[in-house]
Amino acid sequence: MPSPFFETVAAAVERAIHDAETELPADVVSVLQTAYANETSSVARGEYENIFANLKIAKERDVPICQDTGLIVLYITLPPEIPYSAELFEAAEEGVRRATVSVPLRPNAVNPLSRKNSGDNCGEGIPAIHIRPGEKFTVTVLPKGAGSENMSQIKMMLPSEVDKIPEFVADVARTAGSRPCPPIIVGVGIGGTFDTASALAKEALLEPIDQMDDFEQEICDRINELGIGPMGLGGKTTALAVKVKRGACHTASLPVAVNIQCWCCRRRTVEL
Ligand code: SF4
Repeated sequence: MPSPFFETVAAAVERAIHDAETELPADVVSVLQTAYANETSSVARGEYENIFANLKIAKERDVPICQDTGLIVLYITLPPEIPYSAELFEAAEEGVRRATVSVPLRPNAVNPLSRKNSGDNCGEGIPAIHIRPGEKFTVTVLPKGAGSENMSQIKMMLPSEVDKIPEFVADVARTAGSRPCPPIIVGVGIGGTFDTASALAKEALLEPIDQMDDFEQEICDRINELGIGPMGLGGKTTALAVKVKRGACHTASLPVAVNIQCWCCRRRTVEL
């Protein structure tokens, strides 16, 4: 018999996944509307209209916005009174299994070599669960589609190449072209180690995208000069936003990770 704690966590994860999959956050919708208002190409404007129609249908019918419901990435904050326990992980996985049926989610998790599908979006290391101390007990879900994830890159740059970071990030967007379903959101992790730079880049995708600092805006402008546009059909906006997270790194290193997110920038936080 599952404990009340197990049930609470599993239900919160299931609800967060449902809400993330069926309705985009307000900041993402707002930035899409601004890009639409600024667009002059009729083809690009048509793509935005398709996106808005897609969002409306998903909400009305309570179905996922995209057929690729992603792999589930979870960020959990634990207040001091909630223990870090195996039960927490098991409950989070149960929430993913339940959401696979109830939302429903496409079963996306496979063994990397045999390609055997688990059928429930769980597997070794999946869902990816990141746990941090915090003041409140919260679950944040970030479903990550493969189309954009596959276009992500990491580069161990030279410490002397700091000025080349914007160029590298723009090159990643240029190489990605239409494949990550633009207009994209670009998460950039600068510093840390090889692994933590990637984690920073993904965490950057949790940040609100309706504001950017000067460095983020500089990179975003550079990407938008590419003219790739919505769905790669040309247009003013290739990147809706660039978000950067930084971490201290070795004096001899400069890791830079770029995690690409599609226009379908799904995320949701539930407080327990
Ligand atoms: S990249 Fe995003 S919008 Fe495109 S198919 Fe994947 S999840 Fe859907």
